[in-house]
Amino acid sequence: MGIPPSAPVSVGRPNDDRLVDRFGRAATDLRVSLTDRCNLRCTYCMPAEGLAWLPQRNLLDDEEIIRLVRIAVRRLGVTEVRFTGGEPLIRPGLPAIVAAVAALEPRPTLSLTTNGIGLARMARTLRDAGLDRVNVSLDTIDRERFTRLTRRDRLDDVLAGLAGAAEAGLTPVKINSVLMRDVNSDEAPALLRFALAHGYQLRFIEQMPLDAQHAWDRSSMITAEEILTALRAEFTLHPDPAERGGAPAETWLVEGATDPSGGPAKVGVIASVTRPFCGDCDRTRLTADGQVRACLFATEESDLRGALRAGADDEEIARRWRVAMWGKRAGHGIDDPSFLQPARPMSAIGG
Ligand code: SAM
Ligand code: SF4
Repeated sequence: MGIPPSAPVSVGRPNDDRLVDRFGRAATDLRVSLTDRCNLRCTYCMPAEGLAWLPQRNLLDDEEIIRLVRIAVRRLGVTEVRFTGGEPLIRPGLPAIVAAVAALEPRPTLSLTTNGIGLARMARTLRDAGLDRVNVSLDTIDRERFTRLTRRDRLDDVLAGLAGAAEAGLTPVKINSVLMRDVNSDEAPALLRFALAHGYQLRFIEQMPLDAQHAWDRSSMITAEEILTALRAEFTLHPDPAERGGAPAETWLVEGATDPSGGPAKVGVIASVTRPFCGDCDRTRLTADGQVRACLFATEESDLRGALRAGADDEEIARRWRVAMWGKRAGHGIDDPSFLQPARPMSAIGG
């Protein structure tokens, strides 16, 4: 079997080893999805019955993942690697993958986005393997709401996971929260109070059209402006003078509050829909079945798994990755009338 041809063309691409695109950006932040499966069923992400999972034979094995990350770090200029899913903690090989990536030269920063279930048990092992930080998703601290929102009664496991991460030194421990109207939209100040009390860094994420059920509705989503108004009713926020760079979150300093290191406590809002930051995006994504995506909202993918399994060498894989990223669009275009939600839901892309 020959190596399948790569799809997008690279007309005009400069001779640059990095993952540059036509709009002057270079991707240095790699998101790797380790599985599309999950032990929760958050309503904004998955239907109650789950999804048709990717076939096992299509999933990259641990060695394949490590090889692709190595190519990204050594040949393509990636400096930051984040593991996500689905739920990455349910992948048995996670500590070994983390250890192998942490041993790369130059060593990338290594983080994990997780729902926190099982983190209390795993945090120390992951820290010892080389993980630097975690982001834990928590949308409500009310047990009944949590059960309704995630369709599982696991709030206590998530809270224990957060505490375990802080104890193991996976800091700063960040919390990601999505607010949904009439579900948890009144909870912004309570979530911030909770985060400040425990020394976690809270970031709200605007809900995006990436749910498998295609139920997202622009007119009913909770906007960054609404979140900030709700927070300001209880807290005084000052714009964070620190350089934002490619970071998606706009951050504010919370007056009178300090973080565990004694510095000013911060709260962030990721306004992907109402204040897109595509012009500064430095992401490249790898799905659990070995497809490169230039954007969460991309409708095209480039197959690295096929090339890898057909015997392509590292430079050929790197070349395909570069070509895939050269085709990255200027922005996600959610507000464009021609916007099409990608066929893959968030859980199968890697959020
Ligand atoms: N299972 C892990 C978790 O929940 O953190 C990792 C994968 S999850 C897809 C990554 C992040 O995407 C989570 O913080 C989750 O809240 C967020 N997310 C999922 N669906 C979303 C949507 N439709 N809009 C905005 N954020 C979403
Ligand atoms: Fe699972 Fe994360 Fe999706 Fe929730 S947001 S269903 S925890 S993948």
